Amino acid sequence: DNPILRKPDWIRVKAPNSPTYFETRNLMRDNKLATVCEEAACPNIGECWSQRHATMMIMGEICTRACSFCNVTTGLPHALDADEPSRVGDAVAKLGLRHVVITSVDRDDLADGGAAHFARVIGAVRAASPGTTIEILTPDFLRKPGALEVVVAARPDVFNHNLETVPRLYLTIRPGARYYQSLRLLDDVKRLDPGIFTKSGLMLGLGEARPEILQVMDDLRIADVDFITMGQYLQPTPKHAAVDRFVTPDEFADYASMARSKGFLQVSATPLTRSSYHADSDFAELKAT
Ligand code: SF4
Ligand code: SF4
Repeated sequence: DNPILRKPDWIRVKAPNSPTYFETRNLMRDNKLATVCEEAACPNIGECWSQRHATMMIMGEICTRACSFCNVTTGLPHALDADEPSRVGDAVAKLGLRHVVITSVDRDDLADGGAAHFARVIGAVRAASPGTTIEILTPDFLRKPGALEVVVAARPDVFNHNLETVPRLYLTIRPGARYYQSLRLLDDVKRLDPGIFTKSGLMLGLGEARPEILQVMDDLRIADVDFITMGQYLQPTPKHAAVDRFVTPDEFADYASMARSKGFLQVSATPLTRSSYHADSDFAELKAT
């Protein structure tokens, strides 16, 4: 077993204390919405929620997968909540967001993997807040034929699916998923609707090597993926995969410049980058160019 590494001082977490942070938290509670910010114990929650940027997690708080980096409970999920799409729409309108990120647990138990529910949530957000751009961060819809088409037809602005790590580490880190299936999913989104931006991300510090990361970038570019995010993996509890090492800010800067040179339209790579971190301002910047 790896010893638990001490966090370096570049992983700084500000204690959440602004009034807007508490407003955001109350709105999520009132609308009975789960957030990945809380479920993943994200270090950026103080900063993001102080700007009302909460990433909602739909389809329940129990996941059918057991990724070894993830803090979400594994088990048999509850039935879908038919009222959830309207509560998400309401929350997005009340938060007044120009860009929202919506994610979900994996629902291997459902025939369509939750695709129709995802589409209903997108529709509800569009209806409640027509000016808000919508980014979804989806499961891989492994063995759910036709599911992706349903989600794409709902026309999110950004379709994000994280590869999470390099293919060699899938068996230990993302055991329920298949690297090439995830890659193909992103490729298929672009082929079904070239007007949708595609996005993917990696956690670093799990034991991957530099050439493996560069290979993943190439694979993503071959699949026409537009945006990439890379951040430091942090172990949520001692039961989860151990941190192999802390990647330095300079190394992140090097990966960012490699990614830009490979042609990604938008690159975010810092120790505290998460796939939804600064998604709002990054997307606004891109639209302005
Ligand atoms: Fe939530 Fe994403 Fe911000 Fe983390 S980076 S607090 S998950 S919006
Ligand atoms: Fe966590 Fe997603 Fe893996 Fe489920 S599929 S365990 S929510 S990372």
